Amino acid sequence: MKADLCEFFPRPDLLQADHLLCIQPHPDDLEIGAGATIARLSRAGLKVTWLTVTDGSAGTYDQSVSRSHLALNRRGETEKAAAILGVDALLWLDYPDGGNLPYEEIRSKITRTIRKFKPSAVLVCDPWLPYEAHSDHIRTGRAGAEAAFLSGMPYFCPENLEEGLEPYKINTVAFYFSAYPNTFIDASAYWDLKLAAIDCHASQFPAEKGKLLKEYLTARAREQAQNQNCSLAEAFKVLSPHHLHIFETAWKC
Ligand SMILES: [Zn+2]
Repeated sequence: MKADLCEFFPRPDLLQADHLLCIQPHPDDLEIGAGATIARLSRAGLKVTWLTVTDGSAGTYDQSVSRSHLALNRRGETEKAAAILGVDALLWLDYPDGGNLPYEEIRSKITRTIRKFKPSAVLVCDPWLPYEAHSDHIRTGRAGAEAAFLSGMPYFCPENLEEGLEPYKINTVAFYFSAYPNTFIDASAYWDLKLAAIDCHASQFPAEKGKLLKEYLTARAREQAQNQNCSLAEAFKVLSPHHLHIFETAWKC
């Protein structure tokens, strides 16, 4: 008998979720990694909640821009982008951007958010992306994955049960920025919305940089759409929380 992990523990369908908690290390990551899919799901009636872990205040090469000014600017950019994509609620953890995230705290706050808002699916950046150098991405992705795996267990992060929250199990974890995608969502009808949402982040993507990024993303989406019966696709690694522990074949599931 072939040991296909997904035969034993089925892979959930992201499009069947009814409430999606989208987690990003910085303002702009969700638009780049999943903007068209978020627009598609919100227009299909899915509830979409965004959690941004850092304030984005280190996203500049220009020291004449203060951190507080940049953080405020990026919050405004995110609000505009989220409105374009149809996001229902924006939550901010407001940690300082720049690589010093306290892992256990972030994990507890993400777990608390899952227990409070009860999403059926969590969307987070893939922390196992080869060549990802930014530790905000690695820690946010790891914390999101661990929270998604363990939020149903009462002895995990008991500090947020003391506030009256109950353990809560989600059934779908989807990773954007994944090198091991297994799900390709038809993004063709929502691509313009994704690009418009990226354009909101003018502090990060001035004209030429923004143009190159959007051209690359579009070319990549065309590649991802091959064999999917669509013209542009966003790619995700979609797993059940069961897959997130001990299985050495989960990467190819
Ligand atoms: Zn980022």
